[in-house]
Amino acid sequence: NLPTIYVVTPTYARPEQRAELTRLSQTLRLVPALHWLLVEDARTPGVVATEVLAKSGLIYTLLSMETPSELRHRPGEPIWVRARGVEQRNAAVTWLRRERAWDTTAVVYFADDDNTYSVELFKEMRYTSRVSVWPVGLVGGLLYEGPLVRHGQVTAFRTAWKPQRPFPLDMAAFAVALHLLIIHPEAQFDPAAERGLLESSLLSSLVSRADLEPRAENCTQILVWHTRTEKPKLKHEEEMARRGHGPDP
Ligand code: UDP
Ligand code: MN
Repeated sequence: NLPTIYVVTPTYARPEQRAELTRLSQTLRLVPALHWLLVEDARTPGVVATEVLAKSGLIYTLLSMETPSELRHRPGEPIWVRARGVEQRNAAVTWLRRERAWDTTAVVYFADDDNTYSVELFKEMRYTSRVSVWPVGLVGGLLYEGPLVRHGQVTAFRTAWKPQRPFPLDMAAFAVALHLLIIHPEAQFDPAAERGLLESSLLSSLVSRADLEPRAENCTQILVWHTRTEKPKLKHEEEMARRGHGPDP
C-alpha cells in the first residue's frame, strides 16, 4: 500500500507537445501508485493531451488553466522574464486541496513536460514527511545544482545562480507532502515572483531549510535532468501545404 505520488505537469500546445507527453507518459507508466495531473495551458484541454492520456495506461486527471494574458510571454520579450506553468501548477494544487484532502500520505511532485526523469527518482520521493530534495542535472549554469548535506541535514546548496534565494532549488528538485499543502491553504506559487524565486515562493510558506529531507544518497545522485527540447525547424511545411500535403499525422 504505497503512498500515492501526484505528478503535476503543466503543458501547452506546440509542435513537440506530443513527443514530450509521450516520453513523459511512458516514464510515468513505470512507476506504481502514481496519479498524473496534466494541466493544459489553454481554456480547454487539447486533443494531443487527451489522446496521449487515453493511451497512457496511467491514472490521470486532465485539467486546463489558461495563463492570463497579462502574465503571458510577449513577442520580442526575453523568454525568461515570465515564469511559465505557474497558473497551471496552482490550479493542480487547488484541485488536490478540493479532491484529495483526505489523502494524508500522498506526495506531490511538479514535473515539467520536457525534463528527463529516472524511474528511481520516484522511489526517493515516495515517503516524504514535509519536503524531500535532491540534485537536478544540467541547470543553473552547472552540470548539476543541489543541496549539500552534512550529518543527514541540508546545510548549504551547490548553486551559482542567485545563491541568496531562500530555497535555491529547481522545480524538479523537490517533492511536497500533500498534507502540508492542506494545512497551509494559502500556499501557492506566486505568479509575480521574481525570476528564479518561484520555487522559493511556495516553499517559504511551507517549510524552513532545516525541514528539508535529503534523498538520493544524501543528494549525491542525479536522477532528474533539466533537459530542454530544441525548437523544431519546420520551414518546409509551407511548401508541403502548397502541394496539398498539409499536416495530418
Ligand atoms: N508551459 C506552459 N505554458 C507556456 C510555456 C510553458 O504551461 O506558455 C509549461 C511547459 O510545458 C513546462 C513548464 O511550463 O511543463 C515549464 O516551461 P519550460 O519547460 O518552457 O521552462 P524552462 O525549461 O525554461 O524552465
Ligand atoms: Mn523545461
